[in-house]
Amino acid sequence: MTEFDNLRHQGMRKRLVDGLKIKGIRDESVLAAIGKVPRHLFMESSFLNFSYKDQAFPIGAGQTISQPYTVAFQSQLLQIQKNEKVLEVGTGSGYQAAVLVELGAKVFTIERQKELFRKVQSFLPEIGYHPACFFGDGYEGLPAFAPFDKILVTAGAPLIPVALKEQLKIGGRLVIPVGKDNHQEMQVIVRVSEDEYKSEKHGGFVFVPLLKGVVNI
Ligand code: SAH
Repeated sequence: MTEFDNLRHQGMRKRLVDGLKIKGIRDESVLAAIGKVPRHLFMESSFLNFSYKDQAFPIGAGQTISQPYTVAFQSQLLQIQKNEKVLEVGTGSGYQAAVLVELGAKVFTIERQKELFRKVQSFLPEIGYHPACFFGDGYEGLPAFAPFDKILVTAGAPLIPVALKEQLKIGGRLVIPVGKDNHQEMQVIVRVSEDEYKSEKHGGFVFVPLLKGVVNI
């Protein structure tokens, strides 16, 4: 334990995890991962009281850190096994990436806003997380590192990017909120064979939009 993560923070985190159980998150490894990641460090320190509430929160550059329930729900749908290669599209604050690292995944994460990319690239290693961070357009995925066991999109996609489906291993899972404006449907796409996919739907959510291109400042 460090001064940056004290008993008070740990107590708040335990209550958050208890709340997620009540809301229906069942995967013990996901609950344990959320119980470990110091979410308060991903926000400005003056917002400590918000950091363990089950709410999304602004992180600058017009973006948000996802609600813990959403992070837990998407992580659970991914069904991550240790050492799997996982691509996250939409690094944002880096919180979801840290949860994926705690789940034992080899994490690759991509962000289209340079300001957020830079911040996360220096911040995550400082608190002991070492995913591979990339600046770029997640619509393209990361062809140089494909294929992936799992792909997670953490922004609302108007359509399912073809590149992401193509970068899945056979048997791999893509978790993606699909839909325009202020409503997306959570979908899981499973690559059944080289050219066969099946999809499942898992209810409505609200995400910031998956946008094309990069913001180079
Ligand atoms: N996973 C994040 C949540 C971030 S919100 C977290 O744990 O905090 C969604 C993020 O997706 C934003 O940072 C946004 O800039 C980013 N984004 C939107 N479109 C993108 C794209 N095409 N490629 C990569 N990142 C994108």
